[in-house]
Amino acid sequence: MKTVCDVNLCAGCYACTEICPKDAITVIDDTNSLNAVIDEKKCIHCKACEKVCQQIHPIELKQPIAWFQGWCNDDSSRSRSSSGGFAYELMKRFISEGGVVCSCVYNNTHFVYKIASSEVDLEKYRGSKYVKSNPEGIYSEIRSIIDSHRKVLFIGLPCHVAGLKCYLGKYDDELLYTADLICHGSPSQKLLKKFLAEKRVPLDSISNISFRKKSVFRLSYRTNNSEVSIAPQGVRDRFTIGFLKGLFYTKNCYSCRYATQNRVSDITLGDSWGSSLGMEEGRKGISLAICQTEKGIQLLQKSDIKLMDVNIEKAIMANHQLREPSKMTKERDLFFSLIKAGNTINKSIRRCYPKMCFRQSIKAILIKCHLYKQV
Ligand SMILES: Cc1cc2nc3c(=O)[nH]c(=O)nc-3n(C[C@H](O)[C@H](O)[C@H](O)COP(=O)(O)OP(=O)(O)OC[C@H]3O[C@@H](n4cnc5c(N)ncnc54)[C@H](O)[C@@H]3O)c2cc1C
Repeated sequence: MKTVCDVNLCAGCYACTEICPKDAITVIDDTNSLNAVIDEKKCIHCKACEKVCQQIHPIELKQPIAWFQGWCNDDSSRSRSSSGGFAYELMKRFISEGGVVCSCVYNNTHFVYKIASSEVDLEKYRGSKYVKSNPEGIYSEIRSIIDSHRKVLFIGLPCHVAGLKCYLGKYDDELLYTADLICHGSPSQKLLKKFLAEKRVPLDSISNISFRKKSVFRLSYRTNNSEVSIAPQGVRDRFTIGFLKGLFYTKNCYSCRYATQNRVSDITLGDSWGSSLGMEEGRKGISLAICQTEKGIQLLQKSDIKLMDVNIEKAIMANHQLREPSKMTKERDLFFSLIKAGNTINKSIRRCYPKMCFRQSIKAILIKCHLYKQV
């Protein structure tokens, strides 16, 4: 197998598949890792793929120049967002000034990047999707928009921002705005789909998947007009257990070069976990924004959000991704060997974290029998 970058270290940014003039590259996702594989029969050795590969040619990271915490002024918008709602307000402001935005949506069983040019389209962008989203095909669309002298705001995983910048090469800095998410790692979408299929979730007929409500991390999905949770309220489902433990991110995430204070974008968005603003505000969601450029600061300042100072040391302490990548857990190999041997995701997670899963199962039974009440 000939791969664009080192085996199992592909970030899945798809810059190489998009630049290849011969359609010779396919990103293979085996749930454990990603690989951009070259079809040697089609390859003409132009090396265009290597030139845009962020693993081979790392993108320059910028030092932050300003740190803020806060939330959007519209209470209802804040409550519908994962954190303090900065992402939505940035997109809204950007569109109101004639720009277009590109970020991640759930579309037809996939988490993909889509472009929006109208505020009415923005609602579906809300929310953290704790999987590796797929940017395939989006960079050339962004290039055409930039070529037509329209401004674009791209919000996504840091490796996808890097992929976009590598693909574009030279571009007019005034036309491209980028915001990356503080990211502790992301699992393959295939893994999530397999887990949901095990739970008999009718993937074809669901309109959205949610991974958290503020500080409560729990998988749920929407069908017609009702929301269905994988586990009862107060109980953590196994996918979320595995995700928060860092059990099954794709392999590249554990050596992520973007898990540092210096960042790839104009603005970095995350949760202000270390905030001392109090429980009440914490429950409603507090965003953290780190700005690397003046244009990032300006976009934040003109959006409809409340901006406050933040204790930088505490913010960094509370988010290890601003210092180093997530550590590979000792259970990870066991997990993938169990999957490979044909075990379900559900069972494999239980084998990795038996005590925790047992506690959650007992809690679920007690809740069902009305013997336990969530406070
Ligand atoms: C995989 C992942 C891991 C994260 N880890 C951390 C962390 O460790 N610490 C931390 O502080 N914050 C983390 N975040 C960010 C956090 O969950 C919130 O998304 C962020 O605080 C923004 O919140 P918000 O209320 O402003 O916007 P939200 O309503 O959450 O909107 C987020 C924006 O990001 C986009 N987005 C969401 N998921 C993805 C995705 N998978 N790929 C591309 N774009 C996406 C949405 O389309 C939207 O534009 C992570 C996000 C993801 C997707």
